[in-house]
Amino acid sequence: MKASIVLLPGDGIGPEIISQGQRILKRVEEIGGHQFEIASHAMGGCAIDEFGDPLPEITLNACKESDAILLGAVGGPKWDDPNAKTRPEVGLLKIRKELNLFANLRPIKTHPCLIDASPLKKDIVEGVDILFVRELTGGIYFGPSRRGPHESGEEAGNDMVYNTGEIERVVHIAAKAAQTRSKKLTSVDKANVLEVSRLWRSVSEKVVKENYSDLDYDVVLVDAMAMHLISRPRDFDVVVTGNLFGDILTDEGSMLPGSLGLLPSASMGESGPGLFEPIHGSAPDIAGKGIANPLATILATAMMLRHSLNLNEEADLIEKAVDSVINEGHRTADIAAKGETSISTEEMATHVLNALKG
Ligand code: NAD
Repeated sequence: MKASIVLLPGDGIGPEIISQGQRILKRVEEIGGHQFEIASHAMGGCAIDEFGDPLPEITLNACKESDAILLGAVGGPKWDDPNAKTRPEVGLLKIRKELNLFANLRPIKTHPCLIDASPLKKDIVEGVDILFVRELTGGIYFGPSRRGPHESGEEAGNDMVYNTGEIERVVHIAAKAAQTRSKKLTSVDKANVLEVSRLWRSVSEKVVKENYSDLDYDVVLVDAMAMHLISRPRDFDVVVTGNLFGDILTDEGSMLPGSLGLLPSASMGESGPGLFEPIHGSAPDIAGKGIANPLATILATAMMLRHSLNLNEEADLIEKAVDSVINEGHRTADIAAKGETSISTEEMATHVLNALKG
């Protein structure tokens, strides 16, 4: 197959890990006889430096015309000034909105050989396999905001707004995913307090009742979910929720497997290119040292092949290769146990490439 892929390396460790993703794509081309047209573009802090804009027109247009996008990470202390005209994260929100990437898929799975990397007890995290589906282009991050004077100083607010269509489309995605897994779907809201959550709950229940009667469906309040996630995470399979709750819960969930360096994510719309990325940030503390874990990016590459390019076999191969590399005991510093030797970003990716050879 022919496909055009845009790479957005971004800032910090972004370029280091994306170049490993690119090596994997090259190997997939060779294995499957595919042709990937790959172009790299600036986004985030580096784009602010070069163009004065975290998501320049040239980058956005290239993304719109592509089949899939692989993003490293954006941001860093250099661009952290709260009074700055713009920030790297503005680019992230804008690309999601412009490409209508309303569903964020985040698989959270513990690996049997890395159980000890988790800060939680082994008997809690063993066998965890959750797929979070977070709504990504609505809710409080995109609702009206205001800031004005108040007798005590100032007053500010953001509105959490959802409409029926926005809830329906993301619940459909989550429900379809649940049908391919263990047929269990949990919707998370705050319907005991928020009107917007009462709408979320009624729409979500209707979608499931009318279309997915084969699913075991339940609802959980977000505060309770925050507890269940670390006390009985194995009880959940597919979890669907809004933007803010999903942001917080998926970060909490990312601690279950122990390292941010292992977790990929996919942001999808109804059509057009998907955006695939590791869930971690630009890790400025280790940038340039060549020690970042490239596995989350490599797994994001697998998600890209599966969800945007329909190359399921190749995606399976990559995931199996990553599994075998972990089983063989190869470790970057973030997942190495005390006293264990750690290898570089490039060495880790080379092991995956070797495993891909079969
Ligand atoms: P972070 O995820 O960058 O780092 C948190 C910790 O995890 C650090 O100690 C880091 O060294 C470690 N870490 C992260 N990825 C790793 C990897 N692949 N291998 C080994 N260790 C890894 O989070 P942060 O420090 O809170 O944020 C740093 C910057 O990244 C900030 O500017 C933030 O806004 C940005 N950020 C960007 C994204 C994104 O681009 N999607 C997401 C989160 C944070």
